[in-house]
Amino acid sequence: MNRLSPTDYATALARKNAREAQKARGSKFRAPLNCRQPLKRGVAGRLKPGKKTKEWASVRAKLKVRFAAVGITSCELLGILPHLCTKDNYLGFAHAAKRRKLSSDDLYHVILICNHSHNIIEVWPAEEMKRIVDSTIHQREKQP
Ligand SMILES: [Zn+2]
Repeated sequence: MNRLSPTDYATALARKNAREAQKARGSKFRAPLNCRQPLKRGVAGRLKPGKKTKEWASVRAKLKVRFAAVGITSCELLGILPHLCTKDNYLGFAHAAKRRKLSSDDLYHVILICNHSHNIIEVWPAEEMKRIVDSTIHQREKQP
């Protein structure tokens, strides 16, 4: 039999005592919180990407190519929205509405903006976020 370390021994003893105390009370055994097994990570705890996430990943890949083809490679809100712009760093696509409200077609209705401006507009009321996305798209010389 393996020899237990003092900590293991204390834990085992605590479990045994808890089990016996529960038995004495006549209810089903449940180890106290501090001596339960830790949760296994990476198996049940992590969510796999869902259908929407996968769809957006494939649309985003296409958008990157299309935007580059028409020369949109930096923040489209530079000069439109006052913010500390990172220009062609930390860029991402912004939609006209929250992701959960978007249809598949809406996924292509995006502007390319830096993370700082994204942080600003994403907390705006829905209509204002839609307005700046729509007007930025409308003012483009070439559409991706
Ligand atoms: Zn910017």
